[in-house]
Amino acid sequence: MDHFLYRDGELFAEDVAVADIAAQVGTPFYCYSTATLTRHFQLFNEALEGTDHLVCYAMKAASNQAILKTLAALGAGMDVVSGGEYARAKAAGVPGDRIVFSGVGKTAAEIRAALDGGIRQFNVESEPELRVISQIASAMGATAPVTIRVNPDVDAKTHAKIATGKSENKFGIPIAKARAVYAEAASLPGIEVIGIDVHIGSQLTQLEPYEQAYQKVAELTEQLRADGHNIRRLDLGGGLGIPYTRSNEAPPLPMDYGALVKRTLGHLGCELEIEPGRLIAGNAGILVSEVIYVKDGVGRTFLILDAAMNDLIRPAMYDAHHEIVPVKEAEPGVEMAPYDIVGPVCESGDTFAKGRVMPPLQAGDLVAFRSAGAYGAVMSSEYNTRPLVPEVLVNGDQFAVIRARPSFDEIINRDTIPAWL
Ligand SMILES: *Cc1c(COP(=O)(O)O)cnc(C)c1O
Repeated sequence: MDHFLYRDGELFAEDVAVADIAAQVGTPFYCYSTATLTRHFQLFNEALEGTDHLVCYAMKAASNQAILKTLAALGAGMDVVSGGEYARAKAAGVPGDRIVFSGVGKTAAEIRAALDGGIRQFNVESEPELRVISQIASAMGATAPVTIRVNPDVDAKTHAKIATGKSENKFGIPIAKARAVYAEAASLPGIEVIGIDVHIGSQLTQLEPYEQAYQKVAELTEQLRADGHNIRRLDLGGGLGIPYTRSNEAPPLPMDYGALVKRTLGHLGCELEIEPGRLIAGNAGILVSEVIYVKDGVGRTFLILDAAMNDLIRPAMYDAHHEIVPVKEAEPGVEMAPYDIVGPVCESGDTFAKGRVMPPLQAGDLVAFRSAGAYGAVMSSEYNTRPLVPEVLVNGDQFAVIRARPSFDEIINRDTIPAWL
């Protein structure tokens, strides 16, 4: 459920008419709903009720400071994957002891900054990383809390670009090597091993891969404890899918996921962390765009929008499907027609949908891409020198621009001219 609903034939974001935002902000823009962000965070929190747990929002899904502050105020921790995200989490007021640091390529500078500013734990992905963290922490007179990310070699049954839990993926250490790596970790002076981390992919639409992975984690926990390690925290990644279409997809509910976690891992008495990104932000955001032209092609009609692949790259990059709906609801019984929905960018990859059946649309009409809150604005670019798409946050009957559209001068003045020109 989200809070983007029609009222009297007009699309609203909570209690604000989307067309009113468009009139003030201009298109294209992203629009997020506070109520939806809150609801989704609470769903996870409730799903793990009765366990010692922390929901760490995977902020790479949507990392605007206003979104982070909204979630932090509810008690969310943050999962960060870069020094920049760490700085964003701190800037949003998240204390270090609620920030976990994931990612296969943490640099020495990033590790130092996190140890300096405080960190709940590093989710370590390789032996060389373990050694570098130990060296840096020791030199700082500190001990770094770590979980080690194990790769359980399960098929997450999702898009290849976002599957991470097979042995062919770059993530984590093979679970078969885990005992040896934990033994080395325990011998390193700057490291305190506190737990196990696992994350098998994104947009998972079945629970069964989680079941397989968590059973392996449960076995490993017992083995590692028998080896003398004090395993007391399990970080379970994220990845629960969301419905991108209204009809044929019904991904598992957080409540069922929570029940699975409790059933497979609850008996171990560990503190649990989960890192949802998409499920918190995905359906909490839409991308609003205006139709520039309706162009007749050979055997097809193109709907040319003012949003493009640089604003929302998921269709081009992941073959992703987004529902695209008119901001002014179609009259009942109106004749629908197929459109190829494209942006203005100069490549054919700039196609949002082919043969999408829509009510009749004209230049000047507004459309909204649903489920665009996660991996939308954060992946946007200024390709074709199209200004970075602005972001708006709605809260009840209020809205605010939370990232303004840059002017052409601001964009151009970021470049600097060498002395010889
Ligand atoms: C991307 C990522 C997540 C979040 O995945 P979602 O599918 O957005 O829930 C969680 N943990 C790690 C380590 C990630 O890389």
